[in-house]
Amino acid sequence: MTTMQDFLDENIKLPSPPAVALKILEAVRQDESSFDDLAQIIMADPALTARILKIANSSLFGFPNPVESLSQATALIGTNALKNIALSFVIVQDFQDVPQGNFDLNLFWRRSITAAVAADTLSNYVNLKDRDIFVSALLQDIGVLIMYLADPVAYSSLQDERRVNHKSICEAERLKFDFDHTEVSHHLLTTWGLPESICQTIRLHHSEAGNEKYSESAMILQLADKISALYHGTNSNSLSIEIHQKLEKLYNLTAEQVDELIDIVGDKSHELLELFQIDPGDIKPFSTIMQEANEELSRLNFSYAQIVLELKQAKQSSEQLAIELKLANETLRELAFRDGLTGLYNHRYFQEILEAEVERSERHRHPVSLVLIDIDFFKKVNDNYGHPAGDYVLKEVADMLTKLVRRIDIVARYGGEEFGIILPETALTGGKILSQRIRRGIEQMNIVYEGQSIPVTISCGLASNDFADNMMTRSELIKRSDHALYQAKKNGRNMVEF
Ligand code: GH3
Ligand code: MG
Ligand code: MG
Repeated sequence: MTTMQDFLDENIKLPSPPAVALKILEAVRQDESSFDDLAQIIMADPALTARILKIANSSLFGFPNPVESLSQATALIGTNALKNIALSFVIVQDFQDVPQGNFDLNLFWRRSITAAVAADTLSNYVNLKDRDIFVSALLQDIGVLIMYLADPVAYSSLQDERRVNHKSICEAERLKFDFDHTEVSHHLLTTWGLPESICQTIRLHHSEAGNEKYSESAMILQLADKISALYHGTNSNSLSIEIHQKLEKLYNLTAEQVDELIDIVGDKSHELLELFQIDPGDIKPFSTIMQEANEELSRLNFSYAQIVLELKQAKQSSEQLAIELKLANETLRELAFRDGLTGLYNHRYFQEILEAEVERSERHRHPVSLVLIDIDFFKKVNDNYGHPAGDYVLKEVADMLTKLVRRIDIVARYGGEEFGIILPETALTGGKILSQRIRRGIEQMNIVYEGQSIPVTISCGLASNDFADNMMTRSELIKRSDHALYQAKKNGRNMVEF
């Protein structure tokens, strides 16, 4: 297992603190209340002096009157604050020169400076007395930068993996390196000689809330980092919810106070980023961020509604298709069972129904009758009036047969000019009456084709299963009625035989 020390020794020459920072720290360490030494160091750098004055005049402090000199600034903000501002400037500036590779150094400092502003603002809201909170927050993640610089490939792959596995940053770092950036930050800043309050607060900034001396400051750092991520990261919506929940729970802030705080952080950090000469990127007002987040959310809702609608339509059209398919199948089935010329059931279907009706009649011991019909001298119709006239006559006779029978009777075209009628629930007596009615009905028709009247008669052969006799099968029934039909023809036509 590689220790952090081994890893750093092998991979990186730790950056030394900027010379000015060392002098500042040294001066403060010797006599914290003494302003003179500190002022001398700062004033030796006119650019640094000018920036410190700018910051003393910024909204971070919000003094009503302009601050014009370093001594005036110190009187107003204190030696320690002056020290911290100077340190921050010097360190951020110094780190602009590190070889950064793919590391987005600008984003890193943007996020750190906004976190520092957030920590400073938040500590005022919750009355935390930590004079160094700005620097602590600013440098909390310096370990990330060091780890990246030491092993860019490993750290980049860790970042890529996190986008997928959503592990916390410390967990991901420990998995890959056996230590995390809080330890590295702590190590570096201790080496630099920064005060214990800063180093320890940073060491704890990803820990669970605890009772250690710097736990409270560490919690502020953690929250400040989340507020900063709101402006410089993704997931604004869920972050905002989390920040609200934590601040309301931990510090009894109201939702309005939290919104106000977030807004203030946005404004102040815009100003500070400029003073630190860091490109502010597209830092937007919190209200804009939330509006965009909500728009994104409603877009998602909208597309969800859209999907539901499309599914509904797809379901409807598939139901419609199913209905059409069913109708088509029914038509197809009908076509298979129907005779094309007359529209009556065809021979094959006639046989099927007759089989079923004979079976049913046996099962229930109900009678069933069969009439076979043949048009008399039909050959002559064709000969005298032509084949189309013959077709016409067949259709007319078929229609009339359908009209003459009862609803339960089944009329089929048996062959050329032959028809079969199945009479369910009908014994011989009833069959005779019905057959005569049919024969008479056809005889009385007045079929006119192209102005010519065509007289038509039929002969009928009847057979019945009515339990008086032996029960007949389908083919026996057909044979009997066919025989009766033959008798009718023989006996002079236009008559019923049984
Ligand atoms: P019978 O009284 O003995 O039944 O005399 P018929 O002339 O009706 O008997 P036959 O069986 O000799 O003739 C039937 C004729 O029916 C022969 C055939 O040309 C005609 N035919 C059969 N199917 C059709 C059809 O679909 N259309 C037309 N126009 N004629 C048909
Ligand atoms: Mg015939
Ligand atoms: Mg005939």
